[in-house]
Amino acid sequence: MSPLLSAQGLHLGYRDLEVVHDVSFDLRAGEVVALLGPNGAGKTTIMKAVSGLIRPFRGTIRLGRHDLTGMAAHQVVGLGLRHVPEGRRVFGSMTVAENLRLGGYSMRRRPAEIRTRIDEVYQLFPILGQRSHQLAGTLSGGEQQMLAVGRALVTRPQVLALDEPSLGLSPRMSHEILSTARRLARDGTAVLLVEQNIREALRIADRAHVLELGRIVLSGTGRELARDPRIEATYLGGH
Ligand code: ATP
Repeated sequence: MSPLLSAQGLHLGYRDLEVVHDVSFDLRAGEVVALLGPNGAGKTTIMKAVSGLIRPFRGTIRLGRHDLTGMAAHQVVGLGLRHVPEGRRVFGSMTVAENLRLGGYSMRRRPAEIRTRIDEVYQLFPILGQRSHQLAGTLSGGEQQMLAVGRALVTRPQVLALDEPSLGLSPRMSHEILSTARRLARDGTAVLLVEQNIREALRIADRAHVLELGRIVLSGTGRELARDPRIEATYLGGH
């Protein structure tokens, strides 16, 4: 199957400082591909480039038959790629339901269609349905992350780019949110995942790339990398 998302020879950075050097990867429908690595390796920078927040110095990003390179973020969203940035930025003084409706707003779809999609999000995350009238700012960290993901899903994206979804969550919540990402992929949404939680990320990833200092230093299937002694020693504490 040809890739849905394809990044080739990306060189990325800020002003004149290059922090990502010659990175290539792709993502097929139904797959979870994880980008892993230590702080500052360039993972978030790659997510920003893929979602149109920064323009690559060099290289190309394609989504299906569209060339995303240099496109603005709202155009990228329109083509079916949704980015859930690190830090779950939900609108705290709005309710859960209002946050989800806003997620659908950019679609300019009929209200009935948005309602159907919001119901799908409630099926995926029942706790959000139970708390639909609660102010988002009063949700727990894990619930806010579910809401951030749910808001992206209201547009039924082809590609979901999740940046550190488990950051600050309890192990149980991290497990739940990443299991949901796996389920979404199985149902057809391709998931590009940036994670610090290497063990959990490799559990759900079909393939993963390890970045160090802006370069891919190791690639493999989730299963291969979970057993790789270099990963064990560097990231999993050797046990
Ligand atoms: P973390 O896991 O800590 O978020 P990361 O792998 O996502 O790390 P990036 O946030 O992509 O790493 O950062 C890669 C490099 O780019 C770092 O050296 C960082 O200091 C630098 N950087 C990030 N954002 C900017 C910016 N807005 N301006 C200048 N440099 C930046």
